[in-house]
Amino acid sequence: MNEFYQRQLKAYGMTPENQKKIEKSRVLIIGAGGLGNPCALYLAGAGVGHISILDFDTVSISNLHRQIAFTANDIGKFKSDVLANRLRELNPYIEVHSLNFTLKESHAKGLISQYDLVVDGTDNFTTKFLIHSACFETKTKLIQGSISAWEGIIHYFDFMDDQSPCLGCLYPKRPEEGCVQNCAEAGVMGPTAGVFGSMMASVALKTLIGMKNSTQGVSYTFDLLSFKSQQFKFNKNLLCPQCGTGFEDKLDHPYELNEISDEFELVDLRVNPHFIPVPSKKFLLFCHRGVTSLNYVSMLRDQGHQNVWSLKGGASSLT
Ligand SMILES: [Zn+2]
Repeated sequence: MNEFYQRQLKAYGMTPENQKKIEKSRVLIIGAGGLGNPCALYLAGAGVGHISILDFDTVSISNLHRQIAFTANDIGKFKSDVLANRLRELNPYIEVHSLNFTLKESHAKGLISQYDLVVDGTDNFTTKFLIHSACFETKTKLIQGSISAWEGIIHYFDFMDDQSPCLGCLYPKRPEEGCVQNCAEAGVMGPTAGVFGSMMASVALKTLIGMKNSTQGVSYTFDLLSFKSQQFKFNKNLLCPQCGTGFEDKLDHPYELNEISDEFELVDLRVNPHFIPVPSKKFLLFCHRGVTSLNYVSMLRDQGHQNVWSLKGGASSLT
């Protein structure tokens, strides 16, 4: 069996001990689509000892250009079954399970608590928040990815780390379904799925062997058109509905002001979302409800701008 892993054992960070850690790991991959396919193949190739694939959907002809484990002969079959069989063919030394049902709130925590790591390649906010919430409550590590056309985004969450932000810190108000187009609406290129599914597999393997993950607390994006990547660091948000402390109702936040005065220059973040303050003035930033502006002010303060505050309650508090 060692011959199977011969080449990866020579890579930086890989040792026989780390290979054992991979072989003892249990990973749940939710979504056997464009991201789940390459990610699952690479995790199986790396020797993840127990992989479960959860997807309720069946293979259709429009999946084939990016869901690389499937062929035209698989149309109509359950994706989780086909992908699980493909993994078993690839690596006979691992255990693979197919779960061809829809993830529900009633069983999400019980299911997810059986795994060391969850990889989320689903394509809608409702499922992503359900998975995130179940991972948060069971302290299961989570990798989430989304793709559209030529670009994508990855998040990694280690819920054992109390200082680490969560998805709710980034989106205190849950985005409405449909505010971002999914693959069917915006289209998607096959290589986008391949690149991001592979990135998610690399984050998973680093996590399983205990290597530091530079993607924690960061929104990592990559655009295959321009070949530009961006890393947006976000912090723990006291107003977060998932991990926040309910700070909003109990105390005045030190960066928040309750009213406007002449001392400050007003900045509407809805009009000027990338505002950077000059040092000579004081600025009072506001948005619709005061959540985005407080996060933005916290980020500017972290960057050393001490002359910015956020209007509590935002523009809606003024009317
Ligand atoms: Zn949070």
